[in-house]
Amino acid sequence: MSHSPRHRLLFSLIRKGRSFFRLASTAVVASAAAIAAPRVASSAAASSSLTSASTTVSAMDDLQTLKTKLCIIGSGPAAHTAAIYASRAELKPILFEGWMANGIAPGGQLTTTSDVENFPGFPDGINGIDLMDRFRSQSHRFGTQIVTETVNKVDFSTTPFKIFADSKTVIAESVIVATGAVAKRLDFLGSGEGSGGFWNRGISACAVCDGAAPIFRNKPLAVIGGGDSAMEEATFLTKYGSIVYIIHRRDTFRASKIMQQRALTNPKIQVLWNSVVLEAHGDKDNQNKLLGGLKVKNVVSGEVSDLKVSGLFFAIGHEPATKFLDGQLELDSEGYVVTQSGTTQTSVPGVFAAGDVQDKKYRQAVTAAGTGCMAALEAEHYLQEIGSQEGKTD
Ligand SMILES: Cc1cc2nc3c(=O)[nH]c(=O)nc-3n(C[C@H](O)[C@H](O)[C@H](O)COP(=O)(O)OP(=O)(O)OC[C@H]3O[C@@H](n4cnc5c(N)ncnc54)[C@H](O)[C@@H]3O)c2cc1C
Repeated sequence: MSHSPRHRLLFSLIRKGRSFFRLASTAVVASAAAIAAPRVASSAAASSSLTSASTTVSAMDDLQTLKTKLCIIGSGPAAHTAAIYASRAELKPILFEGWMANGIAPGGQLTTTSDVENFPGFPDGINGIDLMDRFRSQSHRFGTQIVTETVNKVDFSTTPFKIFADSKTVIAESVIVATGAVAKRLDFLGSGEGSGGFWNRGISACAVCDGAAPIFRNKPLAVIGGGDSAMEEATFLTKYGSIVYIIHRRDTFRASKIMQQRALTNPKIQVLWNSVVLEAHGDKDNQNKLLGGLKVKNVVSGEVSDLKVSGLFFAIGHEPATKFLDGQLELDSEGYVVTQSGTTQTSVPGVFAAGDVQDKKYRQAVTAAGTGCMAALEAEHYLQEIGSQEGKTD
């Protein structure tokens, strides 16, 4: 691993105390940022021998302006795959990995999960943070300049493009937006991480990712939601669970008729209408280490009942991380970046989007990595077309 001891410490802090981090005050984040800051400098220094990205430092205010052919925004599988391809093609990319951007550590959504069992190449599975450490090391190895800051603002109105973070402005001939999305979670007693919470110990936000885990096999499971994702996740989970409850706070679903019908006619699915979860509690047979059940309230009758389940999946939607774009790229009605079919090209030539920020259908690490590769190749072709880059990819 190419991380400095301070960066390792940072990841270890995140690994050991994610819930603490989430709840932590700004002061903790600020002091941890202070730990990270010297690493950024050392990373920049380390990679300066590998990159020709030019740097201007203003003596007045410590603000840096960096120039590059390609700036990548994001730090999940899409961003790092793009960085690996682009750095091998000698584009000398600068990558903003964010600092707790949207409440998620550098590395993206996989840093919020334990075992990743469906990423090819890891037959025994791999911890999400370890997998993202490897992505990052590989980007770094080929000379990607990684900056641990969150991008606040962009200017795509003219070329070269401008990307702004707190202490740095990057001037880039092309950009890849790979800022991902955040799976929405509900907050009730026992829903969180750490002691007393069952996140990653029975509670998940991704049925496709976690549904096949042994702890869910032939056990009663529940899904919260009422849209297409909830129907799809519940139907998917019937392969593994003994019964799947859909817990929905209203008396109708907003899912499409076809998806509803598929779920409602499935003999293993039972709907709890007008219901909300108040609390998650442990399974006594497992010394309360795993989820054992839920307290569910019927919002019409007021009745509270105990529902024995070993798995609970939030299917209440995702929020793509596109606010910082401030309307400069075409977005769809849910805020996802619109790309031309079969490509990663956005509404602005020279700006590409990869991963979950432009994908509301598959939302998997391997598909994010795939589109990250596409974006890097497309950026390289764009740079060739505008006369900025000779062909290099192999
Ligand atoms: C709990 C959970 C478990 C999952 N398990 C699996 C699994 O087992 N297998 C699987 O294939 N998929 C799994 N997924 C889905 C997978 O994590 C995503 O599909 C994948 O991570 C998407 O990658 P991405 O590169 O698009 O971005 P993300 O992983 O979403 O990462 C993007 C990151 O970019 C950074 N960022 C955001 N905004 C900015 C900004 N303005 N400036 C700088 N940086 C920024 C943040 O760190 C952000 O998290 C899981 C998801 C969740 C939530």
